[in-house]
Amino acid sequence: MAPINQIVCHLRQALHPGEMWPLMGLTPLQVQERMDLLLETFEFTSETDKSWTTATEQYNKNNRGFTTYTNFPGSSQVSRDFDLLTKWYKIFNQTILKGLFPPGTLDFHFIPSESLEWTRNRDRACLDGYAVSNRQVCDTTPSTFKATVVVFEKPRIRCNVARIKVTTGNLLHELAHAILEAYACACQRCEKNILEGEGLTGHGPVWMAISRKIEITVLRVFGYRCWLGRSQSLAHEHHAARHRHTEKELSFFEVNERLYCEARMDFAQDENLSGVSFDAEDFAEKGDGVEDIEGLESDYSEDDENEDDMVESRNVKI
Ligand SMILES: [Zn+2]
Ligand SMILES: [Zn+2]
Ligand SMILES: [Zn+2]
Repeated sequence: MAPINQIVCHLRQALHPGEMWPLMGLTPLQVQERMDLLLETFEFTSETDKSWTTATEQYNKNNRGFTTYTNFPGSSQVSRDFDLLTKWYKIFNQTILKGLFPPGTLDFHFIPSESLEWTRNRDRACLDGYAVSNRQVCDTTPSTFKATVVVFEKPRIRCNVARIKVTTGNLLHELAHAILEAYACACQRCEKNILEGEGLTGHGPVWMAISRKIEITVLRVFGYRCWLGRSQSLAHEHHAARHRHTEKELSFFEVNERLYCEARMDFAQDENLSGVSFDAEDFAEKGDGVEDIEGLESDYSEDDENEDDMVESRNVKI
């Protein structure tokens, strides 16, 4: 007998053609179309704004005027960060991702830097986060689907504004993966769609489109600008596919060329070290853009115009 999830998408599509969001029953492109519609038509309400602002104000209050990573008696920075991210995670689920994750289908974990899991992962190339689900397990059905998004604490970014921006971007990045895990079918008949939409690393064209739409929507709805690491993600995908990019492509995907090229050089460097040859010449001349702010790693600003907001000395609150 064929594994259940191999027939789920086709059965569901046949039985419920009008269903907007059948779990694990769509192609990545169909997920993208629905996300476009959902996010473009999302209406800003004053309640949305209020819960966002309340969470932010509470965070600033909890920080007692400190603008950098600081632990003081009775309140650790990690619990304050976790508190804010948990609230924002809930707000995202109730607003721009409304109805996408029925109760029990999605979990959020924040990994504090003092935990064993954080230490165990310390040497990973990028300690940002990840998303996992049981989508590809053969007996997963819509009623047993379960995804988890994980985000790591970033204690090395001392500035609260910058750290929360980066961590929120990481959370949204993983949520974009979780959406595809939940709704794009990965059965054998759909494998080709997955490859075309989600790519080799999960950052194919469909993920690139959804993540951009999320950036734009979060800015529009909450007035909050953060980045989902799209430049590095596209570089990762192109590197894995040994793809030779064009400038046109980079502007089509709306990525930052400098960050993209830096990331590709890093990936190539890693490969050089492992003995695979790579001609870095294509990328070298473009990697010398504006210097990143001291203390921030290169992927912390997607867009140079905004770097002022990230500078600690300006005392900006989030
Ligand atoms: Zn399928
Ligand atoms: Zn990713
Ligand atoms: Zn380039």
